[in-house]
Amino acid sequence: MNNKIKILGVPVDMVNYDEAMERFKEFIREDGVSLIVTPNSEIVVNAGKNPELMDAINQAEMVIPDGIGLVYASKILKHPLEERVTGIDFFGRTLEYLSQNAGSVFLFGSKPGIADKAAEKMKEKYPGLTIAGTRNGYFKPEEEEEILNEINAASPDLFCVALGSPKQELFVLKYRDRLNAKAAIGVGGSLDVWSGELKRAPEFYRKHGLEWLYRFIQEPSRYKRMAALPLFMLKVVFSDKSQIEC
Ligand code: UDP
Repeated sequence: MNNKIKILGVPVDMVNYDEAMERFKEFIREDGVSLIVTPNSEIVVNAGKNPELMDAINQAEMVIPDGIGLVYASKILKHPLEERVTGIDFFGRTLEYLSQNAGSVFLFGSKPGIADKAAEKMKEKYPGLTIAGTRNGYFKPEEEEEILNEINAASPDLFCVALGSPKQELFVLKYRDRLNAKAAIGVGGSLDVWSGELKRAPEFYRKHGLEWLYRFIQEPSRYKRMAALPLFMLKVVFSDKSQIEC
């Protein structure tokens, strides 16, 4: 069950949604903070250039294949992933599980007001969920200690960090030994979606792995980031295929 595949040097767990959830339930039972990362192809490429991010991913307890690019890459590497496990959908499932098991979540990140709006929507959907606290993601380095105290006083089961990558992964890694939570997950722009501020791609785009196209139509200024997908595929095609098993 702990099968991994290395994609451009990044270890990715070969898990489907159900297996990822089983691991999550274990994390909630165990002591210490388990780090969950949800890389897409852009993050995989960035990890190759950023040793700190690569280190954070290597130290994560679970690396979920968020991104259609990773599924294609696994096919090219002849170790096909069963399905794409998107960070936002997996995050939704963890909230559902916590709501059914008297669990709690702390929402950290995104612009002021977003985490509170997201919290409201989460409570509507999952009334049993405890929102242990919220905090926006714009802070100075000298405020980090205070933020840590806030999180620890709330002592959530799940610490959700929406600072974008690699900020979110590096924040968790920096404070992991002092964090009072069972699991931490980096969710990028998921709180923007939960709050209703950002629309998720319609079903058609999601089903065909075309969220990148939808996002490009919404925010053409992201075109440079879009170029990461074809670049990533090329890198995988020409990568050393002997280095894929962990
Ligand atoms: N963000 C933040 N603090 C920062 C920079 C970004 O809280 O210093 C938030 C931002 O408001 C957004 C999220 O992090 O909600 C990043 O979203 P994006 O979609 O760019 O994430 P990614 O694509 O990197 O996963």
